[in-house]
Amino acid sequence: MSMRDLKNRKTLLGAIKNLSKIAKDFSTKKNNEKILVCKKCGRASRLEDLKKNLFICPQCSSYFPLTGIDRFDMLMDKGYRLINYNSKKINPINFPNYRNKEEDKSSEAVKIARGKILGSPVLVASLIDTYMLGSLGTYVGEEITNMIEEAERKKLPIVIISLSGGARMQEGIFSLMQMAKISSAIYSFGEKGGLYISLLTNPTMGGVSASFAAQGDYNIGEPGALIGFAGQRVIKETLREKIPENFQKAENLENFGFLDMIVERKNQREMIGKILRMHRRKYGRL
Ligand SMILES: [Zn+2]
Repeated sequence: MSMRDLKNRKTLLGAIKNLSKIAKDFSTKKNNEKILVCKKCGRASRLEDLKKNLFICPQCSSYFPLTGIDRFDMLMDKGYRLINYNSKKINPINFPNYRNKEEDKSSEAVKIARGKILGSPVLVASLIDTYMLGSLGTYVGEEITNMIEEAERKKLPIVIISLSGGARMQEGIFSLMQMAKISSAIYSFGEKGGLYISLLTNPTMGGVSASFAAQGDYNIGEPGALIGFAGQRVIKETLREKIPENFQKAENLENFGFLDMIVERKNQREMIGKILRMHRRKYGRL
């Protein structure tokens, strides 16, 4: 081992020790405070502190994944209601060990809320990364389609917040069919004048990026979000070429016109609220 290797190793060990010390400090607190560690810089933060900071690392400003209720709290006015359309949780191709766990009965990869953003009525769906990477299966497809159909009936605008690894392989072709189902519901909604704002967050990949996430009247990206179809490793191995550093990053996609704008978390509520208000007379009537 060279001196340089040794030095790197020492630095690394130091960082790990420091990290476990911080985590230990937190875990010795009396109440059960949750600690989250930043994947980029390794800083440990209390869940409560992160929540106040919109789930942005206070040290390196990178974004933690933000889904479901935390998303609704950040974007929507107080008093929103969580809703669901009682879609079935099925195992259509009898994939082994899928839907056997207890958690499968209670949770799934999407949450939906009905409420307002800065006073404008809206329906919002948010994909949940902690459940099978926010993947698109029959339940998610059915819930989102039902939401779009409700919006069409009630002339409400919709917001869909994407955070997903893509179509759910455990449901095979049935997952892929959800892409077409949601896309055609959005088409019909749009034809009748419905307003759809798509918020693409890190990561939005595969079948989700290739269908409804890209279909917004406004496609808004979060800074630094990875958005694409196939993963970088797959592309690299297929093309056998070096891939540029900012490949599939939101900023690059904005340059190519795939995204309309990139909006920081702290400004998203205001920006989406403004867009809804701008279209309210036409689409957003209750
Ligand atoms: Zn960090």
